Amino acid sequence: MINGEIPSGLPIPWGMVGGGQSSQIGYVHRSAALRDGSFALVAGAFDIDAERGRAFGQRLGLSAQRCYADYKTLFEAEARRPDGMRAVSVATPNDTHFEICQAALHAGLHVVCEKPLCVSSAQALELRELAQAKNKIVGVTYGYSGHQLITQAREMIARGDLGDVRIVHMQFAHGFHSAPLESDNPSTRWRVDPKFAGPSYVLGDIGTHPLYICGLMLPGLKIERLMCSRQSFVKSRAPLEDNAFTIMQYRGGAVGYLWACAVNAGSMHGQKIRVIGSRASLEWWDEHPNQLRYEVQGAPAQVFERGMDYLHPDALHDDRISAGHPEGLFEAWSNLYYRFALAMDASDRRDTEALRTIRYPDIDAGVEGVRWVENCVRSADAGGVWVDYC
Ligand code: NAD
Repeated sequence: MINGEIPSGLPIPWGMVGGGQSSQIGYVHRSAALRDGSFALVAGAFDIDAERGRAFGQRLGLSAQRCYADYKTLFEAEARRPDGMRAVSVATPNDTHFEICQAALHAGLHVVCEKPLCVSSAQALELRELAQAKNKIVGVTYGYSGHQLITQAREMIARGDLGDVRIVHMQFAHGFHSAPLESDNPSTRWRVDPKFAGPSYVLGDIGTHPLYICGLMLPGLKIERLMCSRQSFVKSRAPLEDNAFTIMQYRGGAVGYLWACAVNAGSMHGQKIRVIGSRASLEWWDEHPNQLRYEVQGAPAQVFERGMDYLHPDALHDDRISAGHPEGLFEAWSNLYYRFALAMDASDRRDTEALRTIRYPDIDAGVEGVRWVENCVRSADAGGVWVDYC
């Protein structure tokens, strides 16, 4: 149970690049990082507009000297301070992640980066090599993966409750971009422009979330080949897709399906993962994250509730309140930030034993997301053909 006690070594002095006043995700990062005393916000370059970023940082309670015009000045100036930041979160549009993360690692900082980690696997692999060389943590904010019942699903699958896993059905299919609202909305505009978003829209923006959760639930599942079809129902978004279907064949015979969509009119979020085995299935839906459905063929369906004693101890570990009270996205993100902080502290102490026990979306998860998007795009752009996963 997390109860507000702050482990020794924390909080870690921390800053942000991006996540400014009007950003979609900046507040979620700050809420998650600050909630359990994992990090202390000490500095930032919050906005592409230097003045706006400075003013915003001061309204967050930072001193004027530590609200910087851009990330380069932020890293240089903080490195000169004895109390300078030791970690930074990057919450800017996709095309900037690589250069900002690279600069952060060169400045000796641990990094939390938004997904997709970057826009090509060559960049992602370069970051991984750099992070290893600098002995720094890179966490990637697959935020939904911090929900405790995903751990429960992982444990149930591992102990064979489903039988042999045959099918994984994943979707993240919302309806918010059914109309071309990018004309008035800057947060959507860059997402549908390959110059800023990279080679995909919904595959990278939302498809990578259930993909990562599937990897958590089924760590042994490896994609052998895949086939993807992508469309731009709002024509001005081409070549980027606002809908994509991907079929995956895994080593060992299981198959998977992932629907990523931003034009599923009427759907609020629609992120679901259903794992189907030879005797039973599990289903988790992010709009009801405190429940996990377990359906045994021929028996009444069961609903596992977060916080109940019958759950696996690892699924209870991060609870903040007893069962019945709903926890949600903010707690899931805080769970991740807590683990990022523990990993950074363990890394600084060269405590490899502790590091091995802390599970969080790391640089490998970031690399894998970028790689999956590239394979999907390769298949779709060749006419929706099967491609070997590489
Ligand atoms: P946004 O357009 O709403 O906000 C981007 C922010 O970054 C703005 O404040 C902007 O001024 C700032 N910015 C841009 N370039 C900058 C630079 N060079 N230096 C400093 N600040 C800069 O975008 P968003 O929706 O918040 O998305 C940001 C990132 O977060 C994207 O990579 C996106 O994919 C990701 N995201 C992840 C989740 C999740 O669930 N993990 C959810 C939403 C967004």
